[in-house]
Amino acid sequence: MPKPRVAVIIGAGLAGCLAARATRGHVDKVIIVERDKLPSGPYFRKGVPQSRQAHILLEGGQRAIQELVPGAIRAMLQAGAVQLGMPDGFRWFGTAGWLSSEPTGLNAISCTRPLIDWAVQQEVFTDPGVQVFDDTECVGLIMRNNSVAGVRAMRRGSRSAVEFHADFVVDASGSSSRVSEWIGAVTPWALPPKHTSRIAFSYATRFYTRTPAGGNQGIVVQATPESPRFGIMVPVEENRWAVCLGGLEAPPTTVDGFLSYAGTLRSLAIDESISLADPLSSVRGNRPKMGRLLRFDQNRAGVNGLIVLGDALCSTNPIYSLGMSMAAMQARALAYVLVRYGRTADWTARAQKAVLETSKPGWKLASDGDASYLDARGTARLRLQLKQHYFHKLMARSIDDPHLSKVVFEVLSLTSPAHHLFRPRVVVSALKSR
Ligand SMILES: Cc1cc2nc3c(=O)[nH]c(=O)nc-3n(C[C@H](O)[C@H](O)[C@H](O)COP(=O)(O)OP(=O)(O)OC[C@H]3O[C@@H](n4cnc5c(N)ncnc54)[C@H](O)[C@@H]3O)c2cc1C
Repeated sequence: MPKPRVAVIIGAGLAGCLAARATRGHVDKVIIVERDKLPSGPYFRKGVPQSRQAHILLEGGQRAIQELVPGAIRAMLQAGAVQLGMPDGFRWFGTAGWLSSEPTGLNAISCTRPLIDWAVQQEVFTDPGVQVFDDTECVGLIMRNNSVAGVRAMRRGSRSAVEFHADFVVDASGSSSRVSEWIGAVTPWALPPKHTSRIAFSYATRFYTRTPAGGNQGIVVQATPESPRFGIMVPVEENRWAVCLGGLEAPPTTVDGFLSYAGTLRSLAIDESISLADPLSSVRGNRPKMGRLLRFDQNRAGVNGLIVLGDALCSTNPIYSLGMSMAAMQARALAYVLVRYGRTADWTARAQKAVLETSKPGWKLASDGDASYLDARGTARLRLQLKQHYFHKLMARSIDDPHLSKVVFEVLSLTSPAHHLFRPRVVVSALKSR
């Protein structure tokens, strides 16, 4: 009997579950190894500490999830997730003032992060070919013939290591991934260079009661380099509002501090709304690591037998709400490579390259945004100033130009590439005087 073909996925977060679905049709068995004990419902768990903060799922990510796990978006909506027009489902105080509320045909899904993960897991875990080992932490890679051929793991509370052998391994262990360290321990190859963002915002979220009479239009107050504090208030399941404030300076996690911070944003729209709402929770803070991208394309094409995706490969400043969508689009890229080329000799290198390419637009969008908060010098400063001037014009013009607003939101929602912002018609409209 031929040996069963096995994939091992590290991490049962969003990227891990979507990668399980992407690879499932090409192996006999997918093993997911997860450090946390998985909860029995859409509840918070330690391994995804950011899941107490407001999360919205952009259109680009929804489309990728819909392709991979077709019932998941419906399950989120049935459980109370809210679909918000982008940007017309929000009162949106952009960098140049209140944005147009014309529909663009795009939307964002708003619900708690545990519900998003839960909806995807429910579909992925019911596949009999997917086996989940939770409460089990990966601690290293197994190599065979210069190729990654499995992982070493420890069951929580046990001192003996378990080995999971595989035809290939996907690391989806999030921003705390130790994959570079593991690669370094088992191979003589140069590690992938790391690009790191130099900006880190801190966040704090509190939940409030949402009454049906109050509607469900969200509010966004964007940060600017002059006033680097933002707020987002979004409807989530169980008739709640999630109110997330953040900035370069951490928002306080005391109730009084949180409320005062809301009063310092560029618009008082959130401050006024929460002063009328009943609080349901304490304030929970989060200070994520700096964004980073592992450039597997800059030393060698990849590590044979290994694919890294999700935050383990590329994490961006959360203010752009890109991370889950990027993870979903990367998993879809992995699925496309497998469908198109199958598991040829160098397929993991090809897949890693495709996943990395998929990450670049989001990484660029976030790095360009982050750069406006940095103190650049020389020609970099001039380039930055020109770019900022252009983006400011673009945002200002899109206030009353629905065509421009659509182009901008398509790029921000990852459904169009960023170069659409520089198409001649867009540039002319953005720069023309009122
Ligand atoms: C404050 C904040 C707000 C955000 N808001 C948004 C938003 O609005 N929209 C958006 O799209 N994105 C948002 N993000 C980003 C988003 O949370 C991440 O991009 C997303 O979680 C990435 O998914 P992942 O599966 O790669 O990682 P994770 O969701 O972090 O999952 C990693 C999994 O791996 C497991 N794991 C870790 N190490 C091991 C190990 N050694 N062995 C086994 N298992 C392991 C963990 O327990 C976890 O289950 C936000 C992030 C932050 C910090």
